[in-house]
Amino acid sequence: MLTQLERRGIRDTRVLEAMRKVKRHHFVDPAFRDRAYDDTPLPIDEGQTISQPYVVARMTSLLELQPSDKVLEIGTGSGYQAAIIAELAHKVFSIERHMSLLQKARKALDEQAYTNVVLKQGDGTIGWAEFAPFDKIIITAAAPKFPKTLFSQLKDQGLMIFPMGEMRMQELVLIQRNGEEAIMKEVGQVSFVPLVGREGWANNTV
Ligand code: SAH
Repeated sequence: MLTQLERRGIRDTRVLEAMRKVKRHHFVDPAFRDRAYDDTPLPIDEGQTISQPYVVARMTSLLELQPSDKVLEIGTGSGYQAAIIAELAHKVFSIERHMSLLQKARKALDEQAYTNVVLKQGDGTIGWAEFAPFDKIIITAAAPKFPKTLFSQLKDQGLMIFPMGEMRMQELVLIQRNGEEAIMKEVGQVSFVPLVGREGWANNTV
């Protein structure tokens, strides 16, 4: 898997090291375990997916994580992306709307002794005001529009990355906060499940 990531242009050695260290099979359904190290997304419960390793590596490296960073993730899913961030940052706060996924992720993270990942069930589009502001924010589901509340919980000069757009394909957007201004860069095409919530897609549209 690492050779594939390097071949596709992931050069950040800290990210590659984290990808080497975190064992993806712990986060994958037993039925798909033999495919845990393929560079492909895989189904998890509730009709959701664990992201493709290349996309995890790319989004992580674009966040330029520092060991002191406090990071907010929306869409815990399997907990795999949270584990990768936990290797590179100080603390990860991650929100998942499905309780069943949250419980499985908690178990997988506990089994691997990730003590710096805090999880909660809820609508991540409204963020986590209690622990804001965050150095970095990552949304691992597709937002229909600019996520205003999450942006307001980002530190000045902080970075936020998320897929934005329609159901099947989205543009990966990297934002840097500069005062009240968002400096926006499009960094490629991705395919994520929809972000469902108050500032996401309505439940009945997906
Ligand atoms: N980061 C995950 C990938 C998750 S897929 C991993 O590494 O496995 C996207 C997840 O976002 C799904 O589990 C979905 O339930 C969740 N999600 C969608 N909308 C959400 C919202 N408003 N708040 C929190 N989680 C949400």
